[in-house]
Amino acid sequence: MPDITAIGELLVDFTPYGLSELGQPLFERNPGGAPANVAAAIVKLGRTAEFIGKIGDDAFGQGLKSVLDARGVGTAGLILTKEANTTLAFVHLDDQGDRSFSFYRHPGADQLLREEEIPYAILDASSIVHFGSVSMSDEPSRGATLAAVRYARQKGLRISYDPNLRSALWGSLDEAKQWILEGMKYADIVKVSEEELEFLTGSTDLEKGSRLLAGPFATELLLVTLGDKGSYYRAGELVGLVPGNLVQAVDTTGAGDAFFGGLLYGLLEDGRKVNYWSSSELERLLRFANATGALATTRKGGIPAMPTLEEVLASMK
Ligand code: ADP
Repeated sequence: MPDITAIGELLVDFTPYGLSELGQPLFERNPGGAPANVAAAIVKLGRTAEFIGKIGDDAFGQGLKSVLDARGVGTAGLILTKEANTTLAFVHLDDQGDRSFSFYRHPGADQLLREEEIPYAILDASSIVHFGSVSMSDEPSRGATLAAVRYARQKGLRISYDPNLRSALWGSLDEAKQWILEGMKYADIVKVSEEELEFLTGSTDLEKGSRLLAGPFATELLLVTLGDKGSYYRAGELVGLVPGNLVQAVDTTGAGDAFFGGLLYGLLEDGRKVNYWSSSELERLLRFANATGALATTRKGGIPAMPTLEEVLASMK
């Protein structure tokens, strides 16, 4: 019985790690995809996770399945298909170190997951169902994702959501906003970056923006990740900022997913709805999630960067 079932994309990230002598970017290849990263983070911390999604039955896809298998993420809901190739993601870093993404996905296998392929028995057995917006950027995976979260909602399961805007995947930003907000209707726990908060609410103010985003949906817990500055939370009227950990970051890919993994780990350990938590309990939860995110930045890649529970606890001393 998995603690968490993550649904969405599992793909290969190509990330630039330096320049050749002639000044060309050099890429490294790593397994990633935000929901898969969260599943890997949870397992690395010592809980259980299943992954639901579709990859190509090609060399990349087979490699990705073996990564999840080797790491102990359940793959009973992972489909390998000949219909399309495994999606490839290319990370671009600007002068400030900020990341943007482009994709090889014409179509990618991940966007071909269909509603009738959802393994509902895996959802039934899960405590938390986790999803993102990438799988909502196209049909049929949009319908499949929404069917899974609607089902989870009906069953009274807890649902976590990472709006995770990848603008290259959408026809327009208006379309992205519409579907990302549709996802908010089903989610209890939501994490956005500062940029996503501004995109979704028009506000750069954390207090106001988080109220505008969470308020209409009665979100149980909204987190805003702030990079090395840490993270901000809103649980009803309780809000606060918890500073980040000081680390030497080498690759921030997957930091938000590690953060989310740490957060969900803390929620599973406690079990109560966040409405019953005090500010100091919420701040302890975010300190743990910040430490998990910070450690992930000290290693390359998404899935390979996830820290163990012992590493997180040691870094918090
Ligand atoms: P996202 O991947 O969602 O954009 P961030 O880059 O903000 O998320 O990272 C998620 C979390 O990981 C942050 O809230 C913070 O706790 C931690 N983190 C990220 N980058 C750093 C960093 N350079 N130093 C310390 N902690 C970091």
